[in-house]
Amino acid sequence: MSKTEKTEKTVKSEKSEKGSKTAKELKEKLFLKKKNAYFHLSDADFEKCDKFCEGYKRFLDAAKTEREAAGFIERAAKAAGFVEFDKNKTYKPGDKVYRVNREKAVLLAVIGKEPIERGVNLIAAHIDSPRLDMKQNPLYEKDELGYFKTHYYGGIKKYQWTTVPLSLHGVIVKSDMTKISVNIGEDENDPVFCVSDLLPHLAATQMKRSATEIVKGEELNLIIGSRPFKDDEASEAVKLNILMLLNEKYGITEADFLSAELEAVPAFKARDIGFDRSLVGGYGQDDRVCAYTELMAILEAKNLKKTAVAVLTDKEETGSDGNTGLRSAYLKYFIADLAKTFGACGRDVLSASRCLSADVNAAFDPTFPDVFEKNNACVLNGGVCVTKFTGSRGKSGTSDASAEFVGEVRALLDKKDVIWQTGELGKVDIGGGGTVAAYIANLNIDTIDVGVPVMSMHAPFEITAKTDIYSAYKAFCAFIGG
Ligand code: MN
Ligand code: MN
Repeated sequence: MSKTEKTEKTVKSEKSEKGSKTAKELKEKLFLKKKNAYFHLSDADFEKCDKFCEGYKRFLDAAKTEREAAGFIERAAKAAGFVEFDKNKTYKPGDKVYRVNREKAVLLAVIGKEPIERGVNLIAAHIDSPRLDMKQNPLYEKDELGYFKTHYYGGIKKYQWTTVPLSLHGVIVKSDMTKISVNIGEDENDPVFCVSDLLPHLAATQMKRSATEIVKGEELNLIIGSRPFKDDEASEAVKLNILMLLNEKYGITEADFLSAELEAVPAFKARDIGFDRSLVGGYGQDDRVCAYTELMAILEAKNLKKTAVAVLTDKEETGSDGNTGLRSAYLKYFIADLAKTFGACGRDVLSASRCLSADVNAAFDPTFPDVFEKNNACVLNGGVCVTKFTGSRGKSGTSDASAEFVGEVRALLDKKDVIWQTGELGKVDIGGGGTVAAYIANLNIDTIDVGVPVMSMHAPFEITAKTDIYSAYKAFCAFIGG
């Protein structure tokens, strides 16, 4: 029987049923059903979900920058039996390897039983998040206050980053190439830093600026001190005192900032939101919510048919350029090196592979419904979100997963009882956005976006739902396992 005949037969039998069935029964059978996870998860699942999210919140607190996340992931991988990948060794099913790219991106692989030429199951999430980066020459004093000049990283609403306690993370590389790690503001006894904003009493003119300029980029100045050096009533005594403190603590001088990467991020910890504790609030959930769920899935992977590869990448928020972003060749090189250990060709492996681009989507916000098209928006507690295409203005910039690949993922998630939904990033022509999906698809890999809905995305305090986080983890386990 051809496929067309089968379809006609189905239509006929539906017609004959129509008379005997009620509208309710027919709706049950024919309509697309949207799920709220709360009606579908068992009590045992809820318990696992809550426990899983405790680990997730600890990850958010411990890994606020790409470097810290890469370090966390490497330590977790080692603890789970992963060893550093050596392209001159040979590997067998069950072996677990990793490669770190410049302390900012990590690749993990678990070798499967099938020949690697049949492709790998790839999952990719990013571990960088919007923040305030210190400029190369950041330190200055103005009217007896000490400041760092910043240049924001990623797409932010600049006014959201004022009057929020910020911590400082990163590295300073001295001229003798010694590297100093900086992490100030996370410990309760640490000081924090802050960008000021104008009091409402005097903000009448400021409030007339357009929202993108209420706080301008050059006004995101980080307050770092106010106490002058005692013996000096001359100029820049506050700056001098700060440099003296930094010299005592780190042995640095002002010139050492030239070769530093210092990032200001919200100093607060991830917390439960709501009387029912159903939501998670925290900084950097885009995309560390997918990074953590993906990491847990691959750390626990065993007896795999196909080799699984997890990529935790940097630079997504600035467009994936640079050698630690996914437009770089580091993923391609890793797959090629891995293929070679089996005597296979990297190109063949890539072409036979499939990928979940694990990134967040915008959760429908009932307070701001106008920007969403409700039939195609994802919602909190609707499960993990499958996004066929991203992009903007006529899908520009999207890789747009094929119907065949969406069908494959859909069947898999249903088979493994994963609660999932679909999503689109806002109404047509309202805005849009992209992920790393296109750069992976460009390697001739079937790729689709699958991730967690986030409310207040790119704000210092983002909101996710625990059931969606757990569903993402289950989806990634299913993808690696199936
Ligand atoms: Mn993202
Ligand atoms: Mn983002």
